[in-house]
Amino acid sequence: MKCLVCGKEYDGAECPECRFPNVQIIGDYDEELKKLQPKIEEYRKEYLKRNANLSWKIGLRVLRKIGFEGERVKAIPEVFYFGTIGDILDKDIWLDNPFVGFANANNEVALDIVISDGTNTSNKNVIIPGVKDTVYLNVGIYMSDADTFCIKLKDKRGIVGMSYPCSVK
Ligand SMILES: [Zn+2]
Repeated sequence: MKCLVCGKEYDGAECPECRFPNVQIIGDYDEELKKLQPKIEEYRKEYLKRNANLSWKIGLRVLRKIGFEGERVKAIPEVFYFGTIGDILDKDIWLDNPFVGFANANNEVALDIVISDGTNTSNKNVIIPGVKDTVYLNVGIYMSDADTFCIKLKDKRGIVGMSYPCSVK
């Protein structure tokens, strides 16, 4: 059948593309469809909103030391992108570069996460709790859906910390 929300042809209990259930229409097709229309429209709006995120890019902003200005360290901000949300979704993505990172006295690491929709860029200060005695952290990301991400840290022992789920918006 053809999905009522996204138009994909499929067999099964729900659409593999947008997850809308396979609705069996019994009785007058046009009449029943009319009744379902508000529900379909609402679901489609949500689906499109969810998928609009897929081209957004998420990255880690770090300050790279480029030398000294007298006694002061001179640093410039630099962003390392994990990829687009479409690339990241349902995978574990790690940045190639190791970063020297230290947890503060509360065993927290704060990272500056950048989200770009192609036009605008927003920043999120993401806290990773429970990190101890760590240098040379690798920074990774995991997204279970297009709206929510977790930042992870690892060193040679393995995963040493993970943030709470954060929204991309
Ligand atoms: Zn569908």
